[in-house]
Amino acid sequence: MHGMPNSTLEASPNAALNKTILPKYMDLPIPEGKIQAMYVWVDGTGENVRAKTRTLDFIPKDPSDLPIWNYDGSSCYQAEGGNSDMYLYPVAIFNDPFRRGNNKLVLCDTYKANGKPADTNKRHSCLKAMEAAKDHEPWFGIEQEYTLLDMDLRPLGWPKNGFPGPQGPYYCGVGANKVYARDIVEAHYRACLYAGVNIAGSNAEVMPAQWEYQVGPCEGISIGDQLWMSRFILHRVAEEFGVVATLDPKPMPGDWNGAGAHTNFSTKAMRDENGIIEIEKAIDKLSRNHLRHIQAYDPKGGKDNERRLTGRHETSSIHDFSAGVANRGASIRIPRGCAEQKKGYLEDRRPSSNCDPYSVCEALVRTCILNE
Ligand code: ADP
Ligand code: MN
Ligand code: MN
Ligand code: MN
Repeated sequence: MHGMPNSTLEASPNAALNKTILPKYMDLPIPEGKIQAMYVWVDGTGENVRAKTRTLDFIPKDPSDLPIWNYDGSSCYQAEGGNSDMYLYPVAIFNDPFRRGNNKLVLCDTYKANGKPADTNKRHSCLKAMEAAKDHEPWFGIEQEYTLLDMDLRPLGWPKNGFPGPQGPYYCGVGANKVYARDIVEAHYRACLYAGVNIAGSNAEVMPAQWEYQVGPCEGISIGDQLWMSRFILHRVAEEFGVVATLDPKPMPGDWNGAGAHTNFSTKAMRDENGIIEIEKAIDKLSRNHLRHIQAYDPKGGKDNERRLTGRHETSSIHDFSAGVANRGASIRIPRGCAEQKKGYLEDRRPSSNCDPYSVCEALVRTCILNE
C-alpha cells in the first residue's frame, strides 16, 4: 500500500493547504463601495451547482438590482461550443458567509440564447404554479440528507478494506466511533444561518458518514431558492475540509440506508382547525398521481430513486403508493402530532436526496392545490 494516500488530508490538495495564510488576505480592506457577488446556478446535470464571481460597485438589495450575466453553457453540459452563451438571471440574494462584509451569494436561474429557460431550469415553471396557488399559502420543509465521502469516493471514516459495524448506533449519534466530520456539519449550519437560509435543524443519519439538515418551513418558491443555496454552501464548506459531499440517493448498495429529501407540505387549510380533512384529501389526490410524482422526484425521472425506494431501509417501494400515521415505510407519512391535533402537514418521503426541489414542490402544488 506504499504511496497510496490513506487519509483525506493526504489525498486532498485543499485540505493540505496551510489554512493560516488565507485570513491575512481576507482581512484586507476592499475599496469603499465595492463588493464581490458570487453568482450560483444549477448546471446541465440538474444536480450540480456552479459559481463565478464579479465585482460590483453597489450593494444589491433586490435581485432586480443585479446585472444579468452570461456563462459558457458548453462547459456546463448545456450547449454546443459554437453557440455556447447561456444567461444567468439573479433570483435571490444571500449574505456571503465565506467573504463576509457586504459581499453576496446570488442564486440565478438559467436561460438559453433564444430566451427560453434552460432544460434544467425547473424554477421557471415552478414559479408559475406557486403564483397560481398563492392564496393557499403553500409551505414546504425539506429534510436534506447527504453523505460525506473521502477523496476516493468511499464514505468518510469507513475502513478502506471493510465496513463499519451494522447500522443502529449512528442515527443522532455522538462519539468518535459513531459520527464522522461533525466539523463540516457545524460549519455548514452556521454558514447557512449567516447567509439567511432558513435552516431548521440538523442530525446525524442512520448510515455512518450520512447527515441531514432541514430547510423550512418556507412559503412558495423560496423553498427551492433556499435549498439550492444551502447545497452550494455545503459543497463549498466540504471543499475546504477536503471532503466530498454527495447527494447520491444510494451511495452504498446493500444493507445501508439511502438518502432522501423528505418534503413536508401544508396549505393554510391544512394548518387550520380540522385541517386533517384537507390532508386526507391531498393524500387521495397523491394516490392517483404516483407516477407523475416519481418522475418529478429525482433528476433522472425515477431511475435514481429505483436504487433507493426498495421498500426496505425506511422507504416505500417505488411501484406502490401508501400512506399512514407515523409510518416510515410509507410514501406519505402523517406525523403522529398532526394526527393527534387533527391539523398540520404531511410528509412526502419519496423525493430523492438529489431531487430538484422546484420540481418536487411544483408537482405537489399541481396535484394537491391546482388539481391538474
Ligand atoms: P422527521 O421527523 O421526518 O425527521 P424533521 O424534523 O427532520 O422531521 O423535519 C420536519 C420538517 O417539517 C422541518 O423542516 C419543518 O420546518 C417542516 N415543517 C414543520 N411544520 C410544517 C408545515 N406546517 N408545513 C410544511 N413543513 C413543515
Ligand atoms: Mn428528519
Ligand atoms: Mn432523515
Ligand atoms: Mn422525515
